[in-house]
Amino acid sequence: MTTVIETFPAGPLGCNCSILVDPASKSAVVIDPGGDFPTIRAALERAGARVVSIVHTHTHIDHLGATGPLQAWAGAAAHIHEDDRPLYEMLPVQAALLGIPLPDPCDMEGDLVDGGTVTAGAIELAVLHTPGHTPGSVSFLARTPEGAVAFTGDTLFRRSVGRTDLWGGDGAKLIRSVRQKLLTLDEATPVVPGHGPSTTIGEEKLRNPYLRPLSGPRPG
Ligand SMILES: [Zn+2]
Ligand SMILES: [Zn+2]
Repeated sequence: MTTVIETFPAGPLGCNCSILVDPASKSAVVIDPGGDFPTIRAALERAGARVVSIVHTHTHIDHLGATGPLQAWAGAAAHIHEDDRPLYEMLPVQAALLGIPLPDPCDMEGDLVDGGTVTAGAIELAVLHTPGHTPGSVSFLARTPEGAVAFTGDTLFRRSVGRTDLWGGDGAKLIRSVRQKLLTLDEATPVVPGHGPSTTIGEEKLRNPYLRPLSGPRPG
């Protein structure tokens, strides 16, 4: 029995929603339920899973569109980093800007902190505060019996990084977060970004044009 990790695009902007299920206890964590609640529920039902935590890499509307119905159905707590609280309060503005419906309300706890952990059976998510895309952006390093996987939200993408021109964005902080908290992970670590295809830490170290090496040949 191995840990189930399923990732699929959900919601109006195709945010990567991931479900992680511990095979022994059937406890599950859902990361970024961006929308399409029936699809998320179906994936959880297929796995026979019981959701114990709903966590968010950050508080942009496209990452939490299905949190309300998922919480109502599963009865699980939902979590963000408290530095993103203003974004939660600005959800009506986010909805208006994108022209998408306002998500159902949920009970959002601002208790994800750097160095903290979220557990579901044998699965342990280490919380890494990686501000820059938003002030409360976090990445999760999921440790399972089969190995570790990083969920980097809109902080690090395959060959790109998150935009920093939205509310609370900070380009210098984002690059510092990626270098200090993500590129320091084992190079073999698979990375599931907030949108688009997966990658690895080693690949991004080598090939991400936004993360040129710090050392190396210099002119003069
Ligand atoms: Zn975002
Ligand atoms: Zn996003």
